[in-house]
Amino acid sequence: MLVFSAHAADFCSRAGGCLALYARRGAAVHVVDLTYGERGESEDYWARPGERALEEAKQIRAAEAREAAAILGATIEFLDWGDYPLLVDGERLEALARLIRSRKPDIVLTHWKHDPFNVDHEVTAAAVLRAIGMAAVPGFAPESERIPWPQVYAFEPTVPRDDATGFVPDHYVDIGEVFEIKLRALAALRSQTKLVRFYTQWAEYRGFQAAQSARRPVRYAEAFERYTATVSDRLPETF
Ligand SMILES: [Zn+2]
Repeated sequence: MLVFSAHAADFCSRAGGCLALYARRGAAVHVVDLTYGERGESEDYWARPGERALEEAKQIRAAEAREAAAILGATIEFLDWGDYPLLVDGERLEALARLIRSRKPDIVLTHWKHDPFNVDHEVTAAAVLRAIGMAAVPGFAPESERIPWPQVYAFEPTVPRDDATGFVPDHYVDIGEVFEIKLRALAALRSQTKLVRFYTQWAEYRGFQAAQSARRPVRYAEAFERYTATVSDRLPETF
């Protein structure tokens, strides 16, 4: 599983429970943070008294994100492409496509394509989809092997602005058995202390929704929307 996160914490806040479940079952889960979220998603760092600097913000966010990833059972790397605004040019697209080819993911998780309140998320989604397309065609970097399209899923856009993003979940992951792990990982992201409250509330809300389809209680869930269709010899089932 390969997870593309625009900022330091997105992978954890939006899909940390899913990552922990996959890691627990033995999957190799790797996170790519395109930026440290040093400008736009490090509010508690900038609120601290005393002198503040971008470089220090990046170092602190890297340490926090590494800690959170380790708690979830994932590995992580940082591209340091700069946030607010995150810009992805042709060179960066090629780097993403090469990274995807070298990792050969079965599943890719990334942002939802519409997130007007956080355009870095939109930019990441568009870049990841485009880079997968590049990695899948034979003429790109012919010295390396092309890959088939992985299953690609979007995690939550900016919470709680799903009223403005068109995000309609078509799959819920029940994260009840790993919710304490997700909370510990969120707590490690100390430059964004609001995450614990936001994503506890949101997991309860998504659990409430999921329970309507699961026909059993679901206390905490994460929501996803497919970019790629699933294929098998039967329809997807709820269990
Ligand atoms: Zn973000």
